[in-house]
Amino acid sequence: MVLDLTSLVSGKVNSLDFEYDLDTDSEESPLIPPDDVSFAPPVHVKGTVVNTAGYITLSFTAELKYSTHCARCLKDISGKFILTFNRTVANSGTLQDEDNDAYVIMKNGKLDIDRELVEELLLEFPSKLLCEEECAGLCPKCGKNLNFGPCDCPKKKEIDPRLAILQKLLEND
Ligand SMILES: [Zn+2]
Ligand SMILES: [Zn+2]
Repeated sequence: MVLDLTSLVSGKVNSLDFEYDLDTDSEESPLIPPDDVSFAPPVHVKGTVVNTAGYITLSFTAELKYSTHCARCLKDISGKFILTFNRTVANSGTLQDEDNDAYVIMKNGKLDIDRELVEELLLEFPSKLLCEEECAGLCPKCGKNLNFGPCDCPKKKEIDPRLAILQKLLEND
């Protein structure tokens, strides 16, 4: 969505609210999920642009539904990623470095929200998602899902050196 901020810049209004669903197939800023992840539209966006004595800020939240696999046990998982976005809006040509991440750039009173949104969503989307924080994952040797109990692979245990001596004595007996 491209927001027209002319009435905000001129001071006619102090804030502009917006709410829309992102066009995820847009040609200019398509939302392409990372490998092994699929996104389920719509991506609902809700926010506001506020002018405080000439200082303009953009803030919004976006909800992105996804499905993927647990990074440890490969179980199918799905969930909702919520992005919170807060930036200062600067007029094109007033910044030395327009790639500065602290700002979003408005051109001729217009602000392209989608471009910023898609960029930020892909940047902030977690690179590893787990079915649950405590997921035990798969055994690297036999591949058993350790969430359903231990496997039969021999475990390397750290043995107390004093016990190791005792064990040796017993073995030699
Ligand atoms: Zn898992
Ligand atoms: Zn195993």
